[in-house]
Amino acid sequence: MPSQRDDCLFCSIVREGAYVRKADGFVAIKDINPKAEVHLLVIPEHHVDSFREVSEFSSRESKRMLEFVADTAREVGLTDYRVQVNVGPGGGQTVFHLHWHILGGGPHHESDMHATTAVAEL
Ligand code: AMP
Ligand code: ZN
Repeated sequence: MPSQRDDCLFCSIVREGAYVRKADGFVAIKDINPKAEVHLLVIPEHHVDSFREVSEFSSRESKRMLEFVADTAREVGLTDYRVQVNVGPGGGQTVFHLHWHILGGGPHHESDMHATTAVAEL
């Protein structure tokens, strides 16, 4: 049984949340505040606070985690996308359970759209 924290939002989502995909100790969920047309989060069931602790995963689990990210993107129809991991508050991390952002398609927020338009008009 992977380690879980009672006080962790992503541990409880892993236990009982709605997911897009689940396999091999990993889940993919839709980000509640999407920053792109497709914005998914890949969360390992095993709780580690951040990417800094990635060595807590075995090499086999680490490989499976990366494959889960790639397979999830492919299964939702993405060929081109970004994968992002924020590490620590200074790196933009707000939920302290390791997770991988998959961002595909165009920007989602209106402010992003304006920013894109502004750049295009330069
Ligand atoms: P980070 O800032 O890298 O820690 O990413 C945390 C992400 O979790 C943010 O993009 C949030 O929008 C997302 N998030 C927070 N709460 C939830 C939730 N209940 N369900 C889905 N996504 C969430
Ligand atoms: Zn957790």
